[in-house]
Amino acid sequence: MKEGSVNKKTEILIVEDEREIVENLRILLTEEGFSVCAAANRKTAVEILEERGADLILLDLMLPDGSGYSLCSAIKKERDIPVIMLTAMDDEASVVTGFDLGADDYVTKPFRPMELVSRIRNVLRRSEKRQMRYMAGNLSLDVQRAYVEKNGKEIYLSPLEYRLLLIFFQHQGEVLGRNRLLEEIWDIAGDFVSDNTLTVYIKRLREKVEDDPAHPALIKTVRGLGYRMEG
Ligand code: CA
Repeated sequence: MKEGSVNKKTEILIVEDEREIVENLRILLTEEGFSVCAAANRKTAVEILEERGADLILLDLMLPDGSGYSLCSAIKKERDIPVIMLTAMDDEASVVTGFDLGADDYVTKPFRPMELVSRIRNVLRRSEKRQMRYMAGNLSLDVQRAYVEKNGKEIYLSPLEYRLLLIFFQHQGEVLGRNRLLEEIWDIAGDFVSDNTLTVYIKRLREKVEDDPAHPALIKTVRGLGYRMEG
């Protein structure tokens, strides 16, 4: 789900209509190794997000064509891009509203450059952890907590079943050969693992995660090749 491309710079979208602030931020963030683009209003921001997305958004609350609040809730409804609000209004109410709408943090203008950078890095770190969550159909797996949910309810897997499921999630859409799966689980299953036992483990896993284990919709058999988890 998440590709760890080492060379790709983190892209920050600045949504702010005050040109001077934008230029200062652009210099600061570029020096810090981020890739930066800017939108002076909501319309442009939405266009940029639709076109190429962003890894984090710095969002001014007072924009010429509307408030940053509603843009924030619109962004959060569609995808989990971290948002830091830039606000001149440091009263409690506006901050609380921002958090209610899903903002990850806020910074009051004028801000200290290094404080902003450190907040950006914190928010990015938190969001990365949050995103270590895999989903397929009505099933989800939270890597941090080793927690598996089906239809919103926790399901209990043995360590081996969990490992198998995690491998399938990590390679969603790919065919995984039986040998490959056996290699991945041998340290848990040890000497007992064989081609036949793998079949049994897959069967047990399907009984827990599939709606209809006799006709699996998530973990499909690819005849002669192995198994594939649907994307
Ligand atoms: Ca403004």
